[in-house]
Amino acid sequence: MVQAMVRWVEFARWVLLLATLASYTSELYFRAVLPSYTSELQRHGLSCRLATMTQLYEMNSIDVMKARQMIGQSDAHLAEIFPGHFVHSDVVEPYLALVARAADSGVDLRLASGYRSFDRQLTIWNAKVSGQRPVCDDRGTPLDLNTLTDLDKVNAILRWSALPGASRHHWGTDVDVWDRAAVETDYCLQLVPGEYAGDGVFFRLTRWLDEMLANGESGFFRPYTVDDGGVGVEPWHLSFRPVAADFEQLMNQRVLRETLEQADILLKKTVLDNFATIYQRYVLARH
Ligand SMILES: [Zn+2]
Repeated sequence: MVQAMVRWVEFARWVLLLATLASYTSELYFRAVLPSYTSELQRHGLSCRLATMTQLYEMNSIDVMKARQMIGQSDAHLAEIFPGHFVHSDVVEPYLALVARAADSGVDLRLASGYRSFDRQLTIWNAKVSGQRPVCDDRGTPLDLNTLTDLDKVNAILRWSALPGASRHHWGTDVDVWDRAAVETDYCLQLVPGEYAGDGVFFRLTRWLDEMLANGESGFFRPYTVDDGGVGVEPWHLSFRPVAADFEQLMNQRVLRETLEQADILLKKTVLDNFATIYQRYVLARH
């Protein structure tokens, strides 16, 4: 009986010793790891206030480099496809193949816009809010922002411009295209629905793309084809699905919100006060 008790006490001592050792080791580990994660994220403009182990595990699952690419704060994934135009390095070949197929049909496919950085999108946003760039309605007519509430301004801008950090152009997977062969050399490209509609200059391109994208072979698709009151229909905007799908999965409300909290973005309070609705309507609602 006494012998059994001694064995139990011995056993309990070992358990206690091992538990102490484990807790000591894990504390050392987290003390070492936490600051490096925190400073790494802060260096990339992603704030974090790590308090619990759960949050640390969450942070572990975010690939920091990929998160930076997602919000337009890294250019490590890019390649210069034409002078001054960048796309994701995995999109160069598929896009050039699309250009070659277009040429076979007499369409001179040109890139209006490929990759756009967070800072570039922020400049566009702030220029629109401050009236330095026009904010247009669905027919391409400039709106008078002075007659709108702050929330109406935000919605009017988001109809045709993404929030900085939430543009698919950050990923390098998305391009805005036009047909050089359809217009005169001095044509001023507007990227408005009328240009791509039945009586527009780029209708031939619209029809060619309809056919080309239908079978999915090229890998490209149009993410903005249905008007559900969020982002307007953009027949000129193509996305390379095999690479874009990764970024779509990674898109993270918390990372985007924290990025905007730290940015010098005009109408910040209105954006943050309505963030959940904006995220649902303009960021998640993709087709
Ligand atoms: Zn676009």
